[in-house]
Amino acid sequence: MTSADTTAVHAGRDDLRALGLVVPPIDLSSTYPLPDIDRGGESYENLTHGGQLVPGESPVYLRLWNPTVARFEAGLAAMEHADGAVAFASGMAAITAVLQSAVAAGTPHIVAVRPLYGGTDSLLSAGFLGTKVTWAEPGAIAEAIQPDTGLVYIETPANPTMDLTDIEAVVAAAGDVPVAVDSTFATPVLQNPIDHGATLVIHSATKYIGGHSDVVAGVVAAQGDWLARLRTMRVLTGAVLHPEAAFLLHRGLQTLPVRVRAAQECARQVAQWLAGRDEVTQVFYPEAAGRDPLGLLGRQMRGPGAMVSFALAGGYAQAAKVAGGVKIIQHAVSLGGTESLIQHPAAVTHRPVPPEARPAASVLRFSVGLEDPADLIADLQQALEG
Ligand SMILES: *Cc1c(COP(=O)(O)O)cnc(C)c1O
Repeated sequence: MTSADTTAVHAGRDDLRALGLVVPPIDLSSTYPLPDIDRGGESYENLTHGGQLVPGESPVYLRLWNPTVARFEAGLAAMEHADGAVAFASGMAAITAVLQSAVAAGTPHIVAVRPLYGGTDSLLSAGFLGTKVTWAEPGAIAEAIQPDTGLVYIETPANPTMDLTDIEAVVAAAGDVPVAVDSTFATPVLQNPIDHGATLVIHSATKYIGGHSDVVAGVVAAQGDWLARLRTMRVLTGAVLHPEAAFLLHRGLQTLPVRVRAAQECARQVAQWLAGRDEVTQVFYPEAAGRDPLGLLGRQMRGPGAMVSFALAGGYAQAAKVAGGVKIIQHAVSLGGTESLIQHPAAVTHRPVPPEARPAASVLRFSVGLEDPADLIADLQQALEG
């Protein structure tokens, strides 16, 4: 196997040289010629049951298969060391398909560890996909499992506290139950949950994988028969990714390692500076003091990443002042783009989360971008002091 940086540049592009191309073509056909009724019908049958396109056969219809999307999936799967990957119209569509697949298999009970992305938390709490959730601490997963448990669901690093969960320990506690990891904050550059025994790795590709705040997408890297189950769910529910978005994501993969490492270097400096400020009572960053009690940096994560949350002594009022006072950093939700973004989880992204599980009102979440760290620090300083 080539190194991760080389895989990022080349995966999903193996056939291009023979096609006389350097850059993948974008296939925008919504429908495809059928060679004859029998072969068209067979391809339809294969694809609607979650099969992969047989070379030389017709993709039939864009909702069943798209070659540009399949290229991105091959690239992401290689980076995640997964058997394959299935892309969706958004991160929430990917999470929905995972949950619906558990329900469809007759195992609707989900054991989940908080904190989770606000949308995931409210989707599980609402239960309207037919799931039943038990919230468990990482140490109490084994006891929470029931005969109809279909998944153990975790997010690491978690949003917005950057809490790290030991994937191998969760997999051991889960026994035969598959473990799904939302690895959006880590990206395949910093963590490969499948190497630690996870069955499903979920990314909001809207974030680092796209990397330029111009695509909404989700992807699940998966093992074994989960791939066919997820593709079947995608065909039936229609939460497909548009090929132009897939092209941008596949392009994003090429620079993902470079972008993540550069943003991480910047975040390290910002986190250190924040830790030295009197106005800041706590820095939530895997490398900050006391934030990695299980020693997962190095063992599970290759680096702390570029997401930094911090609590302000002045509480909500000071958080509001900083969010409103930054000039280079933008006050906006989302993360993982080239530009730095700051937002207030309790008031915005984690608003749907019940009060007992909601982040503190003093906390801001900072997605550190690719600007010069000195400029970001100066911006934070003027917002804190201004
Ligand atoms: C943004 C996000 C999601 C949801 O993804 P969308 O692409 O917005 O639907 C899920 N999990 C995490 C950790 C996220 O940051």
